[in-house]
Order: sequence, then structure tokens, then C-alpha cells
Amino acid sequence: MLPVVALVGRPNVGKSTLFNRLTRSRDALVADYPGLTRDRQYGQAEVEEHSFIVIDTGGINGDEEGIDLVMAEQSLMAVDEADAVLFLVDARDGLTAADHSIAEYLRKQDKKVFLVANKIDGIDGDSAVAEFYSLGLGEQVHQIAAAHGRGVTQLLTLALTPHIEALASPKTEEDEFGYDDDELSLDEKLAEAPDENDTIKLAIIGKPNVGKSTLTNRILGEERVVVYDMPGTTRDSVYIPMEHDGRSYTLIDTAGIRRRKNVSDVVEKFSVIKTLRAIEDANVCLLVIDARDGISDQDLSLLGFILEAGRSLVLAVNKWDGMEEHDKDRVKSELDRRLGFIDFARIHFISALHGTGVGHLYESVEEAFVSATKRISTAMVTKILDMAVFDHQPPMHQGRRIKLKYAHAGGYNPPIIVIHGNSAKKLPHSYKRYLMNYYRKSLKIMGTPIRIEFKETS
Ligand code: GDP
Ligand code: GDP
Repeated sequence: MLPVVALVGRPNVGKSTLFNRLTRSRDALVADYPGLTRDRQYGQAEVEEHSFIVIDTGGINGDEEGIDLVMAEQSLMAVDEADAVLFLVDARDGLTAADHSIAEYLRKQDKKVFLVANKIDGIDGDSAVAEFYSLGLGEQVHQIAAAHGRGVTQLLTLALTPHIEALASPKTEEDEFGYDDDELSLDEKLAEAPDENDTIKLAIIGKPNVGKSTLTNRILGEERVVVYDMPGTTRDSVYIPMEHDGRSYTLIDTAGIRRRKNVSDVVEKFSVIKTLRAIEDANVCLLVIDARDGISDQDLSLLGFILEAGRSLVLAVNKWDGMEEHDKDRVKSELDRRLGFIDFARIHFISALHGTGVGHLYESVEEAFVSATKRISTAMVTKILDMAVFDHQPPMHQGRRIKLKYAHAGGYNPPIIVIHGNSAKKLPHSYKRYLMNYYRKSLKIMGTPIRIEFKETS
């Protein structure tokens, strides 16, 4: 379970600056899909061997009166779900009334709070932060300059991670071969990567009311369910082991199963954190979209999380029953327009309510899983590189042709291909995309993003 850290503070203290610094390492995969903007409020951070979810609570407005008005509902919920709070204050502005009311609120929560004075660059930190001790939140005021990274590592490694460590289990095996992890050798990554015959952890992801519970019930109604437990708390997903066609699956149900007769008894609050954790824990994500709503910003934001985590993806456009032809056409053209850049994911049009199309989802889920865990040899990726370059030469850079020399596999789930060459990093985006598509076709990889990394060789 990934721990959750909320960034709290009045506007302009530097929460987003810190958020961006913490989550930067996860931008890489999203950057390959220019059609997608990241969610700026929720992200994942990696510090040393620890991963955690960071929330930038945003909505605290210093002008309002009373903490109830001051904190937006979203921020309160974030604090509520967090395992630790970083309470940011501005060392240059000094202590303000809003800081006092936020502190008062936080003191009432049973939460570990770290008081962090930001913007200590170019000023005398110790004397600037002295007055913040009067807030009475812990024995230390941590000094940082988020914009320059100063003090951030110390804050994390000396204060935050020991606290998080006490809360959470160490990183799971799958995190160990994340795409930005250079510490493991390829052999080690290989040994730890899931095998194509392993259980598929399938997360059902989607905004509220798209039909996640209906789909889960439909799937479970037809398959052999091994056992399942109800969730312990509302922020946990339900993990349901099941079998289909001789393959074992664990269904990660973010909606919380609602099979009982009195559905209204179990009204689930949609939780982004729950969704983020489910994505992280899954091998394949089934993103459910409501055909009647079209593609919404919330769908795109969930898609961003899935890509950021490098997870395999299958899209299910639900509630396809009873749609007029012209409405179907409209949804299809919207899919092309807004999701055309996700060319690796299979799209299914289904009705969870009637079961139409649901059976075919397994084929794409399995294909995505097998693609993501496929073992790729150095000889093969280098040969494909040669063919791609032969078919279509890389362009010139500063009067010299960019030379791509050899390639090797750099990781799995998602597959990573490392290409060595001179000025390889200067390749235009269009050529990188060409290579990506070439690899995708040659290796028959569907359903998972592929990451291509470039290394300079002279
Ligand atoms: P938020 O409203 O709390 O999210 O604050 P932002 O992250 O948007 O930052 C507000 C302003 O403070 C921006 O102009 C930042 O460039 C600036 N800022 C953030 N961190 C630092 C810092 O460490 N030092 C200085 N001097 N300015 C900073
Ligand atoms: P969740 O919040 O994503 O779990 O969504 P639910 O499964 O609770 O579904 C929300 C509403 O959409 C319910 O009223 C369902 O009956 C309805 N619904 C779900 N799937 C379908 C479908 O395939 N077709 C139609 N017409 N309605 C559906």
C-alpha cells in the first residue's frame, strides 16, 4: 500500500513547486503522449527506495474566515486520507492569520504533521523561521527552498521517510523494476518481472457511475470466484481472485463490490487515492468510460495516472446498449479526436448491464499482459533497429546524420528499449514515434506503452 502525503498551506507558499519537484521522475512516460496533460493535484513520488502518493491540496484560501470555509472539501478529504501532512508556510511572508487557522485545524486531526518553511533561499533561514515555532506543531521547522531543491532531500530522508517506513511495507517487487530504476541489472529485473503465465492483476478504473460495479458483478456472475473479502476501509479496493479459461486473475475492484440487495447501503465515495493505489498495484488497467457522457476531463486524468505508472491498458466504452446510431458515431469520432494518441490500447464497446461484449475483454487483457511481460533479446531489438533505420534514415543534426548503433531491452512492464547512438537524444519527436511504432509492429506489442530511452555513444 502506498502511503499518502498531503501538501497543505495557504496559496503561494510553494505547494505546487514542491509537488512538481517530488513527482518529476514520473513524467517520462506521460511526456511520450503530448495529447495528455498530467493531473497537477495527485502524483507519485519516489524517494530513495520509497514510493508515496503526493496530493497538492490547493484549495485553501487565506481570505476566508474560519477553517471550515477556508479549506475546500477536496482538501479536507485529502488530509483525511493522508498518512502524513506537509504543512507549508512562507519564510519570507512570515507568520499569517491563515497559517494560524490551518495549524489549529491540523492540530485537531490525528495526523503526523511536518511544518515546512519554504523560500529560505537568499535569507537567513534560522531567524526567519523562529516565529513559526509558536504554531506548536512538532519540535522542528524544516527549512526548504522548493524552487531550488534545497533542504528537500533532508526533509524527505530524515523526517518523512522514517515516518512513512513505519507505516508502510517496503516497495513491492513490481516497483523494483520501475522504468526509472537504474539500480537493478536487467537480469534482476527479468527475474522479478511477472511471467506471462502469472496471475493477471486487473484493475477496473473509472470515474463514478460509469458502470464499474455493474461490470464487476457481471464478470463475477459468469466466472468462478475463488474467494473474496469485503474491504477493510473505504480507501481500500476489493481484491477478488477468479479464474477464466484456465487463467487466474485478481480483480481489483475500486468501486467496492455492491452485490448486496440494498445497494444504497454501500454508497461509495469516489477516492482518487484508492484509484491511484489500484493502478499501481495492477498489471493491466481496464478503464471504463461512459458512452453517454463522452470523453470527460476526469477520464483523461485517470488515463494520465495509468500512463504515468506505465501500466497496460484496455478501454471499455460502456452503456453501448440502446444508443442511437448517430450517437455511436459521435462517440467514435470523439474517441479518435481525444484519445487518438493512445494508439496502443484496444477499445471495446460494451454493455455491462446486458453483458454484451464483456467476454471479449479477456482477449485484450491477456494480450496486454503478455505484451508487457514479453522477454525481448538484445539481438532482436538491435536487428529491428537496423531494419527501422534501413527503411527510414534518422534526420541530420547540425550537419551530421544521427547514427543509431545498437539497442537492448531495459525493463519490462512496461517494456523499455534502450537505443545507443550519437546525438540520439537530438532525434525529433516524429522519429521517436516512428521507432516506437516500428518496435510495436515488429514485436507485436499491443495494450502496453513502450518506452524508448536514448543513450549517447561517441
Ligand atoms: P502554491 O500556490 O502554494 O502552489 O505556490 P506555488 O508553488 O505556485 O509558488 C508560488 C510562488 O512562489 C511562485 O512564484 C514560485 O516561483 C515561488 N516559489 C516557490 N518556491 C520557492 C522558493 O523556494 N524560493 C522562492 N524564492 N520562491 C519560491
Ligand atoms: P460505478 O459507480 O462506476 O460502479 O457505476 P455503477 O455500476 O454503479 O453504475 C451506475 C449506473 O449506470 C447504474 O444505474 C447502472 O445500472 C448503470 N449502468 C451500468 N452499466 C450500464 C450499461 O451497460 N448500460 C446501461 N444502460 N446502464 C448501465
